[in-house]
Amino acid sequence: MKNNLRPPKCNYGNKSISWFFVLILNLIFFSCTQEQDPVISQDELQTIRNFIDLEVAGKTTFDNLPIELDWKKAKLGDDFMEIPLINPIRSFETVLDYFQTRLVISNSDLNAYKFISLESNFDHSHDLFTTLISERKEGNWVRWMQIDNNLRSLEVSSYRTITDPKANMPLDCVTVTYMERTCFYEGFSLISCTDWETVSQYEVCGSEGEGGGGGGSTNYKEDVIIKDSSFVGTKADCIFEKLLDTSEGFQKMIQEFDGSFSVANLIFAMDNLGSTRRGETSPPENFNITNTINNNSTNSGASYRPNLLTAKTIIHEVIHAEMFRKLLSLASTNGNIITSILSSMLENGDYPGMLDYYTRYGLNGFQHQQMAAHYRETIARMLQEFQTGLVVPSSQMPSSLYMDLAWEGLNHSTNTAWQTAIS
Ligand SMILES: [Zn+2]
Repeated sequence: MKNNLRPPKCNYGNKSISWFFVLILNLIFFSCTQEQDPVISQDELQTIRNFIDLEVAGKTTFDNLPIELDWKKAKLGDDFMEIPLINPIRSFETVLDYFQTRLVISNSDLNAYKFISLESNFDHSHDLFTTLISERKEGNWVRWMQIDNNLRSLEVSSYRTITDPKANMPLDCVTVTYMERTCFYEGFSLISCTDWETVSQYEVCGSEGEGGGGGGSTNYKEDVIIKDSSFVGTKADCIFEKLLDTSEGFQKMIQEFDGSFSVANLIFAMDNLGSTRRGETSPPENFNITNTINNNSTNSGASYRPNLLTAKTIIHEVIHAEMFRKLLSLASTNGNIITSILSSMLENGDYPGMLDYYTRYGLNGFQHQQMAAHYRETIARMLQEFQTGLVVPSSQMPSSLYMDLAWEGLNHSTNTAWQTAIS
């Protein structure tokens, strides 16, 4: 995860790795002299199992089934150990009869593991993956996708060995599924994730002929919503939860951040922002966008304002976060926006509205201009749902009370839409 706030990985100490390495070497040496398949001791297997069980805890396949390994069928090769998954990871559309996902671990480094989903036109369950891809027997069709330890697909490859040139060749293109889900954290603890949902599917086509491989692609996105400890259990937290419950639009806004880049995290925090500001959104830093709500004890603090107005502040800040996400998707280096190339990226990007406001008002001025002109209805709709518990039908405008409340924070003399509204 590109996120330093997530729980630290459970890394093995060097001592354990070298011990593990020596054992494996012994096994390989032993196996060579005895001409037997490599074997692995129960103790050793248990050590690997403990490590991997922690790594996959809480992770699910794209069918929302737990990632569980069939340890009884673990196989040890010269360089890798392979363990089949009980529930496969379906990140592409299969066309052949046999399909399986395996966890493949390097024998020299436990941390170096990935998943391989593979399909073939023959039963491959007894073959090592390395054998499958090196021994290309007549009539074999094999396709596989590598998936990293965060479930991002790395690359899809295939081969087929057939002598009949007229044979149907269904391996030229693969339909990759783009999946998305949102995970909620309280501080460092994972609270829950939504189910994986298919967002879209697209075809990846490789080169002609035997061994043709497709390009690599990331077909998954996980948005991470983190509540900082300063936010957990506060009135603002309660209002945030109620917004999630009452407004499908708010829920979507939280979940459906722009899909052009794989991971961004939205953090909610409370801090003393003084007596004039109700909230603020910090630009992306290392993939983290932070919405801070004021806990000052003036009437700008969340505990000193009506809940409806704090709901408005939260929505307003989340819209800022969404705008930052879009900019980040266009011009990012290590999860920070590169402002120097932003305007040229916007010109080539998918956000003509944003480009227009950015060109007219610049990086610091455009967000409130665009929000006032185009997002007040969005804000008002969510506020009305929050207050009444009733969804505003998409064919109806929210009531003017909520449209007016949405002006708060946008009613600046420099704001064009506000000037027009009061003239
Ligand atoms: Zn603002």
